[in-house]
Amino acid sequence: MKILKIDHLGIAVNSIEDGKSFWTDALGLPFEGDETVAEQKVTTAFFPVGESEVELLESTSPDGPVAKYIEKRGQGIQHVAFRVENVEEALEELKAKGIQLIDQKPRIGAGGAKIAFLHPKATNGVLVELCERD
Ligand code: ZN
Repeated sequence: MKILKIDHLGIAVNSIEDGKSFWTDALGLPFEGDETVAEQKVTTAFFPVGESEVELLESTSPDGPVAKYIEKRGQGIQHVAFRVENVEEALEELKAKGIQLIDQKPRIGAGGAKIAFLHPKATNGVLVELCERD
């Protein structure tokens, strides 16, 4: 498995509309529009930062994973995403090492990326996303 870089930081917010001004107006990051991933009950907005990005996550439903996260822990950093060369290979390798996975197989996330989450129990409490993009 090859980790290429930190792809993005996922930050849970109550509202992208209300939350984005810090990133755009105060920090001057470009806002490249938002995208809803219906299957994950989330709307995402990406703000490029050099080689990585900030991803704001707003739940589209009270029972979505981001809404549940905010309910438990409040707004803030929800996950760290590492870019890998090949998500399937990375999952196989981690499985062989006994790492608990949330996703046994990759799914399609925002921007058409192949993504998979590792279980926070396996990572000392950090939700880790693996992400492969062309
Ligand atoms: Zn993400």
